[in-house]
Amino acid sequence: MAFLMKYEIIPRYLTGPSQRRPKLPLARCRFMVAHDTGNPSSTAAANVAYYERTRNDMASSAHLFVDDQQIIECIPLLTGAAEKAYHVIYNVTSDNARYGTDANDTAGAVELCYGGSINLTESYKRYVWVFAYACYRYGLNPLTDITGHYILDPARRSDPQTPLRLLGKSFANFVQDVADELKACTIVTPPKPQVLISPEDANKLISFLSAIYYAAEDEESRTEVNRLANELRRISGQPEE
Ligand SMILES: [Zn+2]
Repeated sequence: MAFLMKYEIIPRYLTGPSQRRPKLPLARCRFMVAHDTGNPSSTAAANVAYYERTRNDMASSAHLFVDDQQIIECIPLLTGAAEKAYHVIYNVTSDNARYGTDANDTAGAVELCYGGSINLTESYKRYVWVFAYACYRYGLNPLTDITGHYILDPARRSDPQTPLRLLGKSFANFVQDVADELKACTIVTPPKPQVLISPEDANKLISFLSAIYYAAEDEESRTEVNRLANELRRISGQPEE
């Protein structure tokens, strides 16, 4: 299996260890959290530059920022060994109830950039693709393993509902778009037939069988000899006859 890399993910890691990037390993990515920047018109590059400048001023962060032009990873999740990002406050309990863990310890965070001159339709395409790729990488089910910041922390947060509303989409629509993208981008390659005997040896045996085939007196015997010859063709990686 492989995944269609439609877009480039640019690694631009924050300097660490710092407050925003403590460089702590993410044990296992168990689910994904959808965010938006809440700061219309600021681009992925601008957000990451701001995080880098303020890396020791506060701890809040995210793994990836997505706009209509770029996908930038500022804390490793998809381009390097996964690390923790602090994107949902620890004292909410909905993540624990739903996934048995705190989002900061076991979830990836993706921020959608929108507003101003950012083409939201293009941003959204990349955002959906990033979630699909994360699901592919970590074996997650989009329908159960993606949540929104507003779902985990409804008292304080509304993201990513504003840009979704601008697109006329519900959170359920978004999750379904990710599921569809995961399906469309997953390339299944059929396994190569296992060759257990060389074609040369198989064909020698088949030539002995053909002598038996022509000497056979009844149709049943010929059918059986043909079946055996095809078994030899199969295990030597040759087409049946
Ligand atoms: Zn958020």
